[in-house]
Amino acid sequence: MRRGKNHKRPAYSEQDWAPYRAAERPVRPFSAHGTHRLALAYANTYEVGMSSLGFQRVYELIHDAPGWTAERFFTNGGGPPRSMELSRHLSDFSCVAFSVSFEEDYLNLLRMLDRSQIPLRRSERDAWHPLIVMGGSCAAINPLPMSAFVDAFAMGAAENLLPAMLPLLEEDLSRDDLLDRLAETPGFYVPARHDPENDDTLPKLHKVDIQADQMRDPGFLPTSCIITPKTEFSEKFLVEMSRGCPEKCRYCWATFGMGKFRWHPTDYILESFERARPFTDQIGFLATAVGDHPEIGRILDEALSMGFRSSVSSIRIPAVKEEVLSPLFESGARSITLAPETGSDRLRQMMNKPIPNAVLLEKVKMIFAHGFRTLKLYFIIGLPTETMEDIEAILELGRQCRELMLEKASETGKIGNVHLGCNILIPKPYTPWQREPMDDEKSLKRKISVLKRGVAKMPNVTMSMMSPRQAIWQTYISRAGSDAADAIEQAARGRHLASLMRELQPQIHPEVFQSFPRDLRWHFMRTA
Ligand code: SF4
Repeated sequence: MRRGKNHKRPAYSEQDWAPYRAAERPVRPFSAHGTHRLALAYANTYEVGMSSLGFQRVYELIHDAPGWTAERFFTNGGGPPRSMELSRHLSDFSCVAFSVSFEEDYLNLLRMLDRSQIPLRRSERDAWHPLIVMGGSCAAINPLPMSAFVDAFAMGAAENLLPAMLPLLEEDLSRDDLLDRLAETPGFYVPARHDPENDDTLPKLHKVDIQADQMRDPGFLPTSCIITPKTEFSEKFLVEMSRGCPEKCRYCWATFGMGKFRWHPTDYILESFERARPFTDQIGFLATAVGDHPEIGRILDEALSMGFRSSVSSIRIPAVKEEVLSPLFESGARSITLAPETGSDRLRQMMNKPIPNAVLLEKVKMIFAHGFRTLKLYFIIGLPTETMEDIEAILELGRQCRELMLEKASETGKIGNVHLGCNILIPKPYTPWQREPMDDEKSLKRKISVLKRGVAKMPNVTMSMMSPRQAIWQTYISRAGSDAADAIEQAARGRHLASLMRELQPQIHPEVFQSFPRDLRWHFMRTA
């Protein structure tokens, strides 16, 4: 078997994890010893996994369950992964729960099993092997491509799924009985018991998300439970502000897959600052629509008055207001991220984001006037009906934002940066564009080269770009059925993606470059 370079490196041992553990500051105690133990795995590095508030939340919820403890696994190092807490192997546990938010991590999930000598295919595992459960947003978008590998998919919020799953794990059930019981439990898709690709009579499975009334309970507010400098959000106490989004952009799973826009009560958010205070002076507010919390101004002001430095994930353009920008700037933020998605009003209107460039530029002016120096703008190329004029419009918008940045810099003498982060449209399940074909590779390459040439002529403007190959693979594994298993397994075993995609072109291209005229295979579950 061909394996990646990673396999030659030794596994992370207790000594390797020691500096990570030493740097962690838990905001509450976590015992490493319990009557029941669950392996909680993130199919990426510690740095990425511990940046995920969802992953931290699951860790905390498992420890909240009486008698339970979780041990964390990441991809760091090579060889068989060892838990951070007690240096155990994945195969020492009766259940391994993976949290997966990005389809690209499917390969890492399989590599972690392989390095642990756990058979990849569920059909090859027996009573001696751990049950493999996958949660996270990928389980709810389209679990079919991973259905040959995963025993049970947990679809929805951990707050609703763990109270049903953990008691079943406490019972001394046989593997078959456990699968039967999970298959009867709302929110679980068990491929050995449900066959949505061949069984028309299967009743719809339901995702069990957090509902607005549950958010009225302070126990439903996700916040960081461990603060560490070794993550993307170094030293930040993360707080979730809301779920869903009031906007309905046609390509966005976050709005169509996560249900109605709902937010956490201000009082609970403010109370959480007290928990953070002994450990850090930095707060990161997270949500798909942070700036749309009805009391965002008050929350930022309170954080500032308590001496916290605040930062927010990207803000919806209409939510860029004085009451948001002032406290953010005063608390030390110097960068703002917006997502215009495209450069032309026509295309933005078509994607159901009816914000004209004139309004966007007013907001950008306001941002630089407040003293922010870095502006990050997210774009998506390969949109339906997109023309080369739309691509030129991205450059023109970047140029106008740069002008506004330079205007301000001429007063202060401090030049900032405008960054254009460009992605390629992945038509995702459950969005209005789920049936759309992906833009073809030649056209994408032409558009990318126009953008690169244009940005090269603009000092203080930078650009990052997703590769078309990455986008094709991601579209394939987002929309494919269970027949994608061989391709995913070969890629996980180290087969070069370019040659694999060339060889499997007759299988991959129709799924990616043709519209979906037939039934949508992922519609065996309801998202709300
Ligand atoms: S504003 Fe952002 S989060 Fe909201 S629907 Fe549009 S893309 Fe999605």
